[in-house]
Formats: sequence, C-alpha cells, structure tokens
Amino acid sequence: MSECYLRFWGVRGSYAAPHESHLGVGGNTSCVEIRCDDHLLVCDGGTGIISLGEELMAQSALSELMVVFTHYHWDHICGLPFFQPAFSKNWTIKFFGPGDTAKDIEKRLSDQMKAPYFPVEIETWMADIQYLEPHNNGLAHGPIGISYYNVHHPGVTYGYRMQVAGKSVVYVSDNEVQFLKTSIAKRIHEFDEDEHELLERMVDEQRSSEVSAIEGVDILVHDAQYTPHDYSRKRGWGHSCYVDTVNLAIDAGVGCLYLYHHDPTYDDEQVAAIHRDCLQIIRERKSDMECHIAREGMKIPL
Ligand SMILES: [Zn+2]
Ligand SMILES: [Zn+2]
Repeated sequence: MSECYLRFWGVRGSYAAPHESHLGVGGNTSCVEIRCDDHLLVCDGGTGIISLGEELMAQSALSELMVVFTHYHWDHICGLPFFQPAFSKNWTIKFFGPGDTAKDIEKRLSDQMKAPYFPVEIETWMADIQYLEPHNNGLAHGPIGISYYNVHHPGVTYGYRMQVAGKSVVYVSDNEVQFLKTSIAKRIHEFDEDEHELLERMVDEQRSSEVSAIEGVDILVHDAQYTPHDYSRKRGWGHSCYVDTVNLAIDAGVGCLYLYHHDPTYDDEQVAAIHRDCLQIIRERKSDMECHIAREGMKIPL
C-alpha cells in the first residue's frame, strides 16, 4: 500500500523558541517532510531537520533524499550542519534552492559551516552530495513533481508547488502578501493622483499573480507570522499578517490552509487566538476552506 504524507518538523519563523509556553505549537524552525513511499522530499533545513535526521539514521529502508530551500536565511539552513545523514556515507542527498548555478547553492550552504562559525566544514560530509542546477521548467523527485516561483521576501526566495499522490501542495514559508517596496512605502505621501493609480495597478497585478500561483491547490502551507498590530510595525520585513494570508487563500480557492512560520515571541495561546480569528474571517466570507495551525510533529495524509 502506498503511503504518502506531509509532516511538520519545524514551524517557527526567525529563530527557534523552545519555551514551555510554545511547545504545543512547537519551537523548531522551518522544515517540512513530504514522503511518498520510499521517496523523501524535505522543504528547508531549519532546526526541525535535526530530529528528522535522527529518525532517518535509525532506519535502513531509505538512503536517498532531496532538500529544497526557499532561501538561505538562518532559520531555514541552521539545522543542516547537524543533519546526520550528510555525515554518513550511506546516503545520497540532493540540494536545490535559489542560485544561478549549482555552485551558488553549494557556496551558500557551505559558508555557514566555515571557521570561525562552525567546527567542521562541508568537506566532512561523507554522503554523496549533489547540488542541482536551476530547472526553470521544474524538477522531480521520484513521483513528486516540483515547480517553484519567486515570492516577496528580502533576497531571492522561492515558493514550491508539489504534485504528489494526485494532490497539489504549495509551501511558502516566507512571503509578504501585501508587499510594497520600502522605497515606495516611504514616499507614498508625496504621490500625485496618477502615481497612486499606477501603484494601485501594480498592487492589483501583484495580487493576481499571487492568487494564480496558489489557485485551487489542495494544501497551502503559508507564512502567517504577524498579528495586524505587529505587522503595522514590520511592513517590508517580508512576512505576512495572518489576515492577508487567510484572505489570499480564500480568494485562490485553496482547499486547506496551514498557518506557518509562527512568530517566535507568540506562545501557544497567541497562536490559538490567531487561528480563532482566521476561522472567524472564513465564516464571515462564507468560505468552506479548512484552516489549521501547522504544529510540529503533525502528520497529514496525502
Ligand atoms: Zn524564515
Ligand atoms: Zn527569511
């Protein structure tokens, strides 16, 4: 029997938050496992990937995996130096992420392990490590089809769309739905009527491209980091207010939304309050979209 699932190993944004008050949601940073029989795809290598690595070392059925990175901010790569399969010659690991060449990917992943930041460099990795060249038409890992697109986050950042077991899954860990370039936001009060109109058109176009990227997907895992109050102070940081995330997902006809990349300062109660408010928005908009909190350890059958 075929077994396909998605499992959350890390759901925090920015930095790990292993406080007792946070553990209902989980303290580790971004890492999601997508498994289809003996094919394993991992999205991001935050601290969540460390426990995944430990589990993989305790089994023998699987010896190959692919990791795709949305980008190289610390919260998405800092578990990698502790990922045990990389240090084992039994494993084959393929890495993919933003970069013009495979060499770019290698450089970005290896730099964080250079002295004086880490005791051993990537030369100590024993696994068969392969860095994949850009694949503009998408790539595949066994039966899992993977495509990617640019999202709004400082530096080049990808959102990933996976086709697995007849389901579509989109993973967008870091994305500011209402993104406005800070240079524009700062000058907005100086704009005349024509410039305002132009700006509105730009924002509309941006929004429709965001909607089409996730249109009708079965499962959307999306940045919902901030409350409206915190977002008002952190516009341009590259993360979404949950109100914008839930409205975007409803507009795109998403089947099920997982609120992701939780702010490390929010405890379980604050994340639960965000979830309650999202459910209220969904009711008010008379949508039948499902919406859940992404929690560490949660396994979703595909
Ligand atoms: Zn992040
Ligand atoms: Zn980031």
